[in-house]
Amino acid sequence: MNKKKRPLYLYYLSIMIVILLLNRFLSDLLLSRQEEVTYNEFQTALIGKKIDEVQVENEVITYTLKQDEKHKQYVTGNMQDPNLTEQLNEAEVKYSRIYPQEINPFVSLLVTFLLPVLIFWGLGNLLFKRLQKKMGNDGMTFGGGGGFGNFGKANAQVYVEAQSGKRFSDVAGQDEAKEALLEMVDFLKNPKKYEKIGAQMPKGALLVGPPGTGKTLLAKAVAGEAGVPFFSISGSEFVEMFVGRGAARVRDLFKQAREKAPCIVFIDEIDTIGKKRDGGGIGGNDEREQTLNQLLAEMDGFDGSKGVVILAATNRPESLDAALLRPGRFDRRIPVELPDLKGREEILKVHAKNVKVGTNIDFNAIARATAGASGAELANIVNEAALLAVKDNRSVVSQTDFDEAVETVIAGYQRKGAVISTREKLIVSYHEIGHALVAAKLKNTAPVHKITIIPRTSGALGYTMQVEEQESNLMTKDEGFEKIVTFCGGRAAEELIFHSITSGASNDIEQATRIARAMITRLGMSEEFGMVALETVSNQYLSQDTSLMCSDDTAAKVDDAVMRMIKEAHEKARAILEENKDQLHELAKYLYERETITGDEFMKILSQKEA
Ligand code: ADP
Ligand code: MG
Ligand code: ZN
Repeated sequence: MNKKKRPLYLYYLSIMIVILLLNRFLSDLLLSRQEEVTYNEFQTALIGKKIDEVQVENEVITYTLKQDEKHKQYVTGNMQDPNLTEQLNEAEVKYSRIYPQEINPFVSLLVTFLLPVLIFWGLGNLLFKRLQKKMGNDGMTFGGGGGFGNFGKANAQVYVEAQSGKRFSDVAGQDEAKEALLEMVDFLKNPKKYEKIGAQMPKGALLVGPPGTGKTLLAKAVAGEAGVPFFSISGSEFVEMFVGRGAARVRDLFKQAREKAPCIVFIDEIDTIGKKRDGGGIGGNDEREQTLNQLLAEMDGFDGSKGVVILAATNRPESLDAALLRPGRFDRRIPVELPDLKGREEILKVHAKNVKVGTNIDFNAIARATAGASGAELANIVNEAALLAVKDNRSVVSQTDFDEAVETVIAGYQRKGAVISTREKLIVSYHEIGHALVAAKLKNTAPVHKITIIPRTSGALGYTMQVEEQESNLMTKDEGFEKIVTFCGGRAAEELIFHSITSGASNDIEQATRIARAMITRLGMSEEFGMVALETVSNQYLSQDTSLMCSDDTAAKVDDAVMRMIKEAHEKARAILEENKDQLHELAKYLYERETITGDEFMKILSQKEA
């Protein structure tokens, strides 16, 4: 729809004009040809037998003349002539008396008051709907939000199978989660089977996992598989509207669900309403607590056999109120974790189905290069690759597109036209080769996949990409330490060659410190502290924030230990580079000229030099 936005008053103005015109037209039709005359004149006409027909209504006498039947004349005035009937008979005119009908007061109210209101309401509603459509509502909503009439209703969206359209086959990996949900699908399809045995389906299941792992997708797929209505509401929607509406929305949502059972109620981002209640506090969060209480009450009031399944999703399960997790509420927890190597490969393939890809694309290699990526990021990589192909006017997506897309998603876009001085470029070349060379000389590190000194929008001036040969779930102490050594390689090369240091290593320093800290405080990989947990992760799925749980004294010792570990790693990196200075020069020069080299090229030069 591309109608220009017209101000509301224009609509009202045009309605007014229409009404006025109508009025005018109608009165013309009915009244225009009437003419008021005196009673005398009427009597003269009557006696002269010029009158054809007479109508008497209250004090008004309306009559037509014989020679001009269309032209009505009328006489008004309070004259109850007692001889009128006699005179009329004498003149042999047709006459009739009209008794005005008492208009029903209800009808008149309806016509004069309610009708216009109704018309305006209808028009307003139409406008409102149109507005909604304009704002990108995809028209799948039909369970509320319709106009002014139900402002207070929860805007629960009702998806029906055909429209949700997601199936389990759209969700790659996540086999355990799918299996747990399959049981629910079966229950929704066939509640009787469970009732017969007396088995109770859990009322609610909580999908927990990091952002972008497919929790929302899974919930939709359950509805799609079961072919039942899908009421979805996001926790944040509860809080957004008017104060005091949250609880009403919950009530309304469940009322709708009860009517449509079997169905699924899906509460996304439940942590926004389900946060732990913090006893009191001034002003507090009364609104949210009321909403939460209402939710708990509704869940308790539910008969589990009715075929309503309540799903919820969150990425901060630790912040949920314990009452929500009690038996009979969200007592089943379904983890939706980041995909492993196989999962990543499958997700890439699922999304690659929607784009035209060239033959023999190595999805396994892409999956290996994207350890730690979520489903949403992988979907994004496929899309980025397709965009790159379009940009190049190619009809299929190639392996190089995928490689470039991985870098784009991980490191940001290439910053074309960024001006970098030749000296800076040289420093970056040595820095990156420093990382790569150190990694190559160590035993427990992942092979180098690619080195580049093309700047990225993320601010990185270059980077070295390492790709594990296979997925590993455990990190040995040696691997951890050698990772730190590799991170130190960049700075070490700068020191060795330029005898000065730059800011280019800030990210390396951060990462090295994070690993060292984790090894000491959480993984028990230091001799001093051994297997003592000194830190806890406070948010499992989000930013991996940690909080210390030891005395200040110990904390100081931890800092000491971290510094020592990094110092040791840094010295080791420096020693390696010193020993292989020739190769460092050679490779840095090569990278400086090429700007991007692959792991294979890197290894070839390295082994030539060694031979
Ligand atoms: P969450 O709700 O866990 O934050 P979503 O379900 O919204 O994540 O996922 C976002 C998008 O990422 C999905 O629409 C889908 O395109 C993609 N995605 C995530 N996980 C998967 C998966 N396991 N299989 C296929 N696509 C996935
Ligand atoms: Mg989600
Ligand atoms: Zn670096």
